[in-house]
Amino acid sequence: MSLDVAAIREQFPILKREIDGNPLIYLDNAATTQKPQCVIDALVEYYSCYNSNVHRGAHRLADEATRKFEDARDIIKGFINAPKREEVIWTSGTTEGINMIANGLAKLLKSTDEVIVTGMEHHANIVTWQQACKAAGATLRTVPVTDKGELDLDVYVSLLNENTKLVAFPHVSNSLGTVNPIKWMTEQAKKFDAWVLVDGAQGIAHGNVDVQNIGCDFYAFSGHKIYGPMGIGVLWGREELLAKWPVWQTGGEMIATVSLQDATWNVLPYRLEAGTPNVGDAIALGEAIRWFSAFDHADIAAHEKALMVRATELAKEFDGLRMIGEADDKVGAFSFVLDHGHPADIGFLLDRQGVAIRTGDHCAQPLMARFGVPGTARMSFSIYNTIEEVEQFFKALKKVHMMLA
Ligand code: PLP
Repeated sequence: MSLDVAAIREQFPILKREIDGNPLIYLDNAATTQKPQCVIDALVEYYSCYNSNVHRGAHRLADEATRKFEDARDIIKGFINAPKREEVIWTSGTTEGINMIANGLAKLLKSTDEVIVTGMEHHANIVTWQQACKAAGATLRTVPVTDKGELDLDVYVSLLNENTKLVAFPHVSNSLGTVNPIKWMTEQAKKFDAWVLVDGAQGIAHGNVDVQNIGCDFYAFSGHKIYGPMGIGVLWGREELLAKWPVWQTGGEMIATVSLQDATWNVLPYRLEAGTPNVGDAIALGEAIRWFSAFDHADIAAHEKALMVRATELAKEFDGLRMIGEADDKVGAFSFVLDHGHPADIGFLLDRQGVAIRTGDHCAQPLMARFGVPGTARMSFSIYNTIEEVEQFFKALKKVHMMLA
């Protein structure tokens, strides 16, 4: 079976938009994906019919909201094959999930400890660990990126040692689309008993994520990158770690008891969910995952591969285009620069033709420095993009290239 992309597109109202009389070609999915009608409906239904705070309400609306909120947690648990629902922590997104772990780690690190990250991180998965290491006087080590845009895995292995406390890496690079061998990398780290955090912001919608199979300790992702709303995300972590991880925010549902001198913490998942949670968005994310799970992963992968293959063919025929990142395993994001024209101008002129991409450093300044560019133009694909859109993109880019000559 292959994906019925036309039928999928019908479910996304925003894809009917025009920009200056041109049909919208939305190729900025690594920044955020669009939302199918059922996700929009789930949000509207929540606010129209049963908006309420969860867990402690003594009324019907609170019961309904609590049930759907906790049902959404179960949907996530199933989707990532988490062993336990208590391990699924609601966050505001990938950034908050990583911060939660890094903040706790800062309290656990000794000055002799080491943390490893890679040269292809989003800032959210590098600055967090820099801060944790600085606070503890520990050492941060980084895995270099090859000319192809892959991690130098020999160096990675050589960096691991008995002092390595935690390793963090992206499932998929947001700038280059490189898919990292996260299961293998986790196995290497585990030889030294290091904890492993996977930044799943870009992997979650492309990667058929099974946290038990990966073997990692933490996997963080954002709802808005997988057809759900902004402001909601998930941190999955092993129960035995999360149950003892230093809490970083206090108050609300994470409390068990409080005296004027001291407090004790609730059980998982609540001990890491301080304050009123983002109920409506959690429910809508559950709906997004339910919707997405109805597709066969192999069909999605085949479709996304076809888009990437076509983009690569057309890029190679394009005089004056330099691809940034040519990993053997690549999904979603496709970065490039032109021999003349700043990425920001490219983005601006493409927008005038209805084509939405992202330009700049993609919150990955060390990676841009590695490739000697201030930024790139990046198109990024999703389940609803078509080969025709990719071809349209390159036609529009030809015009831009001529205008900037
Ligand atoms: N990590 C990666 C690889 C990303 O691509 C992003 C967002 O683009 C993030 C982390 C941060 O995600 P959020 O801003 O949703 O927290």
